[in-house]
Amino acid sequence: MAGPLSTVVNNPVDSTAAAQEVTLDGSQESAAQDLWRRTVERLRGRLSRHTFQTYFEPIRAHALSADTLVLSHSSRFMIDWVRDNLLDILVADVESEASAPLKVDFIVREREDLHSHEAPAPVVQPLPQPMRIEPPPATRPLNINPKYTFDSFVVGPSNQFAVAACTAVANAPGKHYNPLFLYGGVGLGKTHLVHAVGNHALKTNPHCQVVYLSSEAFTNDLIHALEQHRMPEFRARYREKCDVLLLDDIQFLGNKKQTMEEFFHTFNALHEAGKQIFVTSDKLPSEIEGFEERLRSRFQWGLIADIQQPEVETRVAILKRKANQDGIALTDDVALFLGTHIRSNVRELEGSLIRLSAFASLTHTAITVELARDVLKNVLVVRGDKPDVDAIIKIVSEAMQVKPHDIKGDRRQQGIARARQVAMYLTRKVTALSFPAIGERFGGKDHSTVINAVERVEELMQEDQELRSTVESLHRRLGG
Ligand code: ADP
Ligand code: MG
Repeated sequence: MAGPLSTVVNNPVDSTAAAQEVTLDGSQESAAQDLWRRTVERLRGRLSRHTFQTYFEPIRAHALSADTLVLSHSSRFMIDWVRDNLLDILVADVESEASAPLKVDFIVREREDLHSHEAPAPVVQPLPQPMRIEPPPATRPLNINPKYTFDSFVVGPSNQFAVAACTAVANAPGKHYNPLFLYGGVGLGKTHLVHAVGNHALKTNPHCQVVYLSSEAFTNDLIHALEQHRMPEFRARYREKCDVLLLDDIQFLGNKKQTMEEFFHTFNALHEAGKQIFVTSDKLPSEIEGFEERLRSRFQWGLIADIQQPEVETRVAILKRKANQDGIALTDDVALFLGTHIRSNVRELEGSLIRLSAFASLTHTAITVELARDVLKNVLVVRGDKPDVDAIIKIVSEAMQVKPHDIKGDRRQQGIARARQVAMYLTRKVTALSFPAIGERFGGKDHSTVINAVERVEELMQEDQELRSTVESLHRRLGG
């Protein structure tokens, strides 16, 4: 196991020192392996199968000293990723197994195929290209966005499985998860990850031929090739001159028989040659209307990974990352406000940040929560996944048995007035609308009416147990 220490990666201690102080006599090595074996069992139970396989399975125990367990992995990229994302989990499990505080340290070990007695590494770095005999590196395909990298992608529980799969593919195209099928809703980062795979594959191997396009572009290209009688070129482009095919939004192929036919043959040719196929979709293969059965079954061969809506913590982290990148002064309270109120998708989140900062700089004001509330009121309510005012009025009217029309009207009869106040209160709680904006949506009432309503309901909730439970249950139904 004592492969040469090609690189030492630090964290959290100075690992150069740590690695030196560990001498690899047999007993230490086996103690390390023993501890690691037990830790692995613990981790296996805690993580999804794919996270585990991608990140932890390739890790080996290297050495154990009084205060440090040194682990090794063949990929520095993976080590960095584990350190950034999973170190706390890892350390906690190591410490539980060791029943003592321990640091965890990593080294990059040599590629595993030099140690044939070990299991093949799931992550294999491409061989360095011999100089001179090779053709010059392919230029980066122009349609791959250099900004969409793994580094600029914020990882959280909603996407860590997808990122793990993409990282494995990017590190060793064609070796694992082939094909990789990534699906998830609009604006959740699929295209970003596809580009990240392309960028990473090109960075590790500049000779890698990466082809990225949307399935619409693929369809158009095919139509064009058919019209111009240029099918041989078309086929060469996607079969011979391609090591990694990145096909975005494959759901567009549904019902396009001829394109599917061509893609089917492209798929087979690439797969047979061990070339990587990576597609994205906003639906599962089984949900794409008019998607051929044989294609569907092809995607079962590989891995189907999903990407979910990010949680609020991830949304806030994304905002901060973007603000930082773009030099936008975003305070924590505004980031939290936006992250809490814009839940639809990341694209919307980014768009809002950009709009907000544009507005702030145009008007020479600072970005505050109030400004955000004001500038983004349409997004926050209409385009976020929040209930809109009419939906709130509707559920209040049902629960309190008054007509929606009356809630928006002026009648002061007690039952009606109370329902109106509750609806205003809930609107204030679950949307980001300002008081005047709420008044406007309730049939053009003054903002002071809304303020009074909110205060009144707050008071009543202290006094009236029944009203309180009605309001709380409505609030929950509205996602509060
Ligand atoms: P999709 O293809 O799923 O519709 P995109 O990849 O186009 O979504 O993502 C929309 C925008 O959101 C992009 O600008 C992308 O960079 C950004 N984005 C999405 N998820 C993340 C994330 N986890 N971290 C950083 N940026 C993200
Ligand atoms: Mg996309």
